[in-house]
Amino acid sequence: MFLTISTTGTPERPATDLGFLLHKHPESAQAFSTSYGTAHVFYPEAGAERCTAALLLEVDPVALVRRGKGKGRGGAPDAALAQYVNDRPYAASSLFAVALSSVFSSALRGVCKARPERAQEALPLRVEVPALPARGGPDLVRKLFEPLGWVVEAESVALDAGFPEWGASRYVRLVLVGEVRLAEALRHLYVLLPVLDDAKHYWVSADEVDKLLRAGEGWLAEHPEQKLITSRYLSRRWSLTRQAMERLELVRLADADDTVVEAIDNAVDDEQGDSEERPLPLAVRRREAILAELQAAGAGRVLDLGCGQGQLVQALLKDVRFSEIVGVDVSVRALTIAARRLKLDRLGERQAARVQLFQGSLAYTDKRLKGYDAAVLSEVVEHLDLPRLPALEYAVFGSARPRTVLVTTPNVEYNVRWETLPAGHVRHGDHRFEWTREEFRDWAERVAGRHGYRVRYVPVGPDDPEVGPPTQMAVFSLTDDRSATTKEAAA
Ligand code: SAH
Repeated sequence: MFLTISTTGTPERPATDLGFLLHKHPESAQAFSTSYGTAHVFYPEAGAERCTAALLLEVDPVALVRRGKGKGRGGAPDAALAQYVNDRPYAASSLFAVALSSVFSSALRGVCKARPERAQEALPLRVEVPALPARGGPDLVRKLFEPLGWVVEAESVALDAGFPEWGASRYVRLVLVGEVRLAEALRHLYVLLPVLDDAKHYWVSADEVDKLLRAGEGWLAEHPEQKLITSRYLSRRWSLTRQAMERLELVRLADADDTVVEAIDNAVDDEQGDSEERPLPLAVRRREAILAELQAAGAGRVLDLGCGQGQLVQALLKDVRFSEIVGVDVSVRALTIAARRLKLDRLGERQAARVQLFQGSLAYTDKRLKGYDAAVLSEVVEHLDLPRLPALEYAVFGSARPRTVLVTTPNVEYNVRWETLPAGHVRHGDHRFEWTREEFRDWAERVAGRHGYRVRYVPVGPDDPEVGPPTQMAVFSLTDDRSATTKEAAA
């Protein structure tokens, strides 16, 4: 397994700085023993204008295959195929990633005392891998590297040059060209080479998730093929993949925190709305409607899911009938603001015992959400991408299963009544969708039916005869206390 990394430079900023960045001197060839064989680092060229570092890993099984070669019937298919049906050389790619991380560990972390500024800057890089085992072929190679800013040249290597009719092998010749920080480039390779290899050569343990997230920092959370990368990297161990995806979602949402906070501001912005036209701001009306339903349901222990800056939690605290109030949000920033608003650190013991805030994503089932009387999703569902919504449905209605669930969301039909909103626009950039009354009801009926709830609807804000109210609320009540799965099993 062999890989080269080249860069170009000028007399002032010589390409040989690559040697400092890799912590390997360009003038000497060095050998390192790694757990899977000997890794060699050497520089086929090392000038101010152009410098190339090569990493070669000698894996013993490769040598074995090489020795075996020629023992077949003189270049007959068997002999050539033996190299490809034996799985050991394929594993070279993940072994190679391990070697890469041990030989270039400081470079991977972007550490370079000698040239700190060079470590931070994007360099003109060219990476070549003459034979990369790639399950999924050149197409997948492109899908993985192009979103990271690389210009990708990927072509299948023929199974056997002498027998073109056999078609392509699972090897790809890969060239990546781009302006990328060296540490980042190494991290792309460290993760994506084994992903393309897709071989399970070592036992994947829980700390692989940490390794993946560390190497994926800054690029994996936004990668369109994140799921494939995560699941292959973790050898399709679903529990680990899920763990990684969940943590990546938290990363993504923390990155998008500005949008989130803006979204929360939006959810409450009508509070500062035109007081003459709307004597009672919509956000206030929403809270009143929610409180009234919770009281009517006799709920004492209440979850506020997607609590944002905690206005509802604050309102709930004022009514002693709510004995336990839990605010959950994925945004740390929102929770920090909520904690400040609630003065959590200064509450008396009795009050403090009633309230709790924690971070969590509603797209995943969570044991901490079980056993409550009621859950509120106020202006939250429209912030999830539609394909993620079934996950939230299951987490709330299938797994947490409170007796009462209140869901509020904008009624898109009402948008024509907002004077400042251009036609066809949603109320906020972070809204992934806005529903008509019918769409909301369709969704709610489906969820209720599937999970054993009954549902009715309550308008919030002025109920316009033509377009309905600005906010629509669905009130779900549990009718069937058996879990959805028991129900299905019984049916
Ligand atoms: N419920 C509040 C805030 C609504 S804004 C109110 O009515 O004013 C939407 C909130 O949902 C934001 O705070 C956002 O961080 C949160 N959110 C979005 N997606 C989420 C998810 N997957 N898990 C948990 N919270 C989420």
